[in-house]
Amino acid sequence: MTYDSDNIFAKILRGEIPCDKVYEDEFSLAFHDINPQAPVHILVIPKGEYVSMADFTANAPSDLIAGFFRAVGQVAREGDLEDPGYRILANAGDDAHQEVPHLHVHIFGGKRLGPMLAA
Ligand code: AMP
Repeated sequence: MTYDSDNIFAKILRGEIPCDKVYEDEFSLAFHDINPQAPVHILVIPKGEYVSMADFTANAPSDLIAGFFRAVGQVAREGDLEDPGYRILANAGDDAHQEVPHLHVHIFGGKRLGPMLAA
């Protein structure tokens, strides 16, 4: 899939539309999901034009890959999610129902999340 620079997260990164920011550094931006599926539902996105995890890990520079994963962990730590626990998830492609074609990791927490996949 080619990157569409008009996607909503690209617009958030360019500051064209607002977000409810949780964390930002030179590599990543984290913000609250607009339609939360759990008491904590945060999205973490890399600052680069990558559609999916496969695209990102194949094509991004190593400092961006490391910085992005550090940001995911930092958001979880700063949100006091390590204990009692949380879930991270990244949808890719049609079968996973990816809606926004800019790589994003969902962080869910704040309640008992139940089994891994809904039916
Ligand atoms: P996915 O299905 O993995 O592509 O998830 C896309 C997520 O982006 C959904 O959970 C949406 O609720 C969320 N979303 C869409 N637009 C916005 C926005 N403007 N600000 C925050 N979250 C958004």
